[in-house]
Amino acid sequence: MTHCTCGSARPERKCCGPILAGKKLAETPEALVRARFTAFARGDLEFLVASCHPKTVCRFDPEVNRSWAEQSEFHGLEIVACRPGAAADSAIVEFRAAFTSDGMRRQHHEISEFRRVDGRWTFYDGKRPGD
Ligand SMILES: [Zn+2]
Repeated sequence: MTHCTCGSARPERKCCGPILAGKKLAETPEALVRARFTAFARGDLEFLVASCHPKTVCRFDPEVNRSWAEQSEFHGLEIVACRPGAAADSAIVEFRAAFTSDGMRRQHHEISEFRRVDGRWTFYDGKRPGD
């Protein structure tokens, strides 16, 4: 059994696969973080754009992210913490994503806010811890 690209213990068909294929909605903000990580690994910019919040999607530059994704190798995702956000239908997820770019293994540590729009979780905004 091969584990999902996101680094979960589940196979991709029971994890990010159906979400990226549009067959299933991400049921939790954590599931969406995982699906977005796998989308980066696959270079699926369409999914990344589609899963942004309508208000903040303009801040996501598909071309910049595409070239970064193509030049990087993605190793896995670690969910550090999940908690409800300040507003209703909002959640905060802290995660670390491991990847290699420019021949160096790096870690992206981010605290992201997710908001639910019409029953669907979307990525609202992200910041580095301490920003
Ligand atoms: Zn996954």
